[in-house]
Amino acid sequence: MKHDVLSGSQVAERARLAIPGGVNSGQRSVPGLTDLVIVHAEGARFRDADGREFVDYHAAFGPPLLGHNDPDVGAAVAEAGRTVDLCGVGVTRGEVELAETLVELVPSVEKVLLTSTGSEATFHALRVARAATGRRLVVKFQGCYHGWHDAVSLNVISAPDRVGGRDPISTGILPEVLEATLVLPFNDAAAVRAAFAEHGHDIAAVIVEPVPHNVGCLLPEQEFLATLREECTRAGSVLVFDEVITGFRHDLGGWQKLSGITPDLTTMGKAIANGYPVGALGGRADLMELFSSRPGGPAFFAGTYNGHPAVVAAALATLRKLRTEPVHEHVFRLGERIRTGLADVFAGLGLPALVTGFGSVFVAYFMTGPARTYDDLLRNDAAMFIGYRRRLLEHGVFELPLNLKRSHVSYAHTDADVDRLLEAAEAAARAQLAA
Ligand code: PMP
Repeated sequence: MKHDVLSGSQVAERARLAIPGGVNSGQRSVPGLTDLVIVHAEGARFRDADGREFVDYHAAFGPPLLGHNDPDVGAAVAEAGRTVDLCGVGVTRGEVELAETLVELVPSVEKVLLTSTGSEATFHALRVARAATGRRLVVKFQGCYHGWHDAVSLNVISAPDRVGGRDPISTGILPEVLEATLVLPFNDAAAVRAAFAEHGHDIAAVIVEPVPHNVGCLLPEQEFLATLREECTRAGSVLVFDEVITGFRHDLGGWQKLSGITPDLTTMGKAIANGYPVGALGGRADLMELFSSRPGGPAFFAGTYNGHPAVVAAALATLRKLRTEPVHEHVFRLGERIRTGLADVFAGLGLPALVTGFGSVFVAYFMTGPARTYDDLLRNDAAMFIGYRRRLLEHGVFELPLNLKRSHVSYAHTDADVDRLLEAAEAAARAQLAA
């Protein structure tokens, strides 16, 4: 039978037979929503195979800052399809224009390479840091996610009793690899100084989400980011800002522009191309020049699909729109309306909640403040967090019903969409409290 006449549960059942777990990426299969089959996405909404429509605040974990299927991005991709597809030799004009744009926009970026995903960008950042320094160790922070590869696959969202432990997100990783990664608490300048005092001579890189959005939102203290910069400079270690989420979404120059703290390398992705598969690694010219497209190095860099013309066209169209239309003004205003509105709703119900975020990103934790470190988030009432979001679905509002996930507002969302979210929030929270 053809797929387009099957119900969601019938398609999902076939998916589970042919695809392990029925989905193609971790955390796409959500308890209570295992039969979700998406058939259409446009602007601020998506629709499923059973005809349910949702106002989408999940936004695919972040890329579609302009909204789903933006017409200008779509037109640029179609035009690219008529002009050139992948040839795998030389360079295209679009790749040069995109590289020059990233150099112009992002303070740390003197030279830049394109990848297809954020994970590849962070992988190569750590490889080149080791190549440049000849050192072994990488420092990451609790609650930060940098992709699926081995060196960073620990202490992302840890079970409460595993925080600070090795806690890999997968088996099959060599213990030697995990041992070469030190995990520190976020926003803890003293812990950073202590780690450098003990291991500084062997620290190749420090990688950090300047705003850890993979656990919702921990806002960085300026002293913490300044300490990372100081210690890396003093020890000769490479400071990597992973701006896969913050880049272009919070500012065209990323968090480094907002904070005035310039890393040595920057990884980017998601919002650059509004949903097309892209990542980028840029930074200091002397480090980036270590990459060679010839095997043997110093640091080898390759990828069949890097700089794919359709993706590059999507990126150029996205960045053009971000630069010429009031996208940030719009999403920041709606984000603020949502944060203030949700805080009022929960306060009105007497429900302890901490509504936080930045710009277009928002998250409501069900706990009292502050939220400085990952440990603070262990106070979040996960059952309330997930239960509330499941009830939002009944009102046609989609925030991913998994603990600690952030939500996003896009250029396609309207004030009416925000009104709808706030009304749904009140009904959902009330029902969850009564349950
Ligand atoms: N870094 C950060 C901060 C991310 O949020 C993500 C993806 N959620 C990645 C890296 C990995 O990017 P990708 O999924 O494109 O490999």
